[in-house]
This record gives sequence, structure tokens and C-alpha cells, in this order.
Amino acid sequence: MAFVKDKLPDNVAGKFYVDRQCIDCDVCRDTSPSNFKRNDNNGYSYVCKQPESTEEFELCMDALMACPVEAIGDDAEAGDLPKASKFAA
Ligand code: SF4
Repeated sequence: MAFVKDKLPDNVAGKFYVDRQCIDCDVCRDTSPSNFKRNDNNGYSYVCKQPESTEEFELCMDALMACPVEAIGDDAEAGDLPKASKFAA
């Protein structure tokens, strides 16, 4: 489980973030390349852009669920889910 207090400083503000547990495995960058990038100097991923469409949102959720160390967080206080998302309540 990711924790907001461990959020990496590179993340853009918003709902999704990567925390310090990241092991630089590349899964999120492969899954959602528009939203995740690698910090090449320090060897980890971060959220470079929050999702701007339902498709991007769902790819971010796919990355979150696929991360092997649960380093991707979903800050519930940073925004609601898109209404069209299959993940919306
Ligand atoms: S999937 Fe998880 S561990 Fe792998 S690079 Fe992304 S945030 Fe890091």
C-alpha cells in the first residue's frame, strides 16, 4: 500500500502518485506511458501527468493494480473518479 507521506517529490499534484517503495520495474511506464515517467538519475517512476480522460484514468488504475510492490497511490482526497469510469462508485 502506498502512503501519501512517502510520495516522491517528482509527482505532479493530484490523485495518483508513486511513493518511495518503487523498485523501478517499468510496469507502470509500460501500462500507462502518458502518465508515468522514469527519473533516470535516481531510478524510480513518478506520475508526470494526471489522467485527463477516462481511458488514461483506467490505465492509471491498471498500473496501480499491477505494481508489484503497491507503490502507486490513489489519493482519495485529491479528486473524484471520472463518472464514466468503470471504477466509479
Ligand atoms: S510499477 Fe510500481 S515498482 Fe514498478 S516502476 Fe511503477 S511504481 Fe515503480
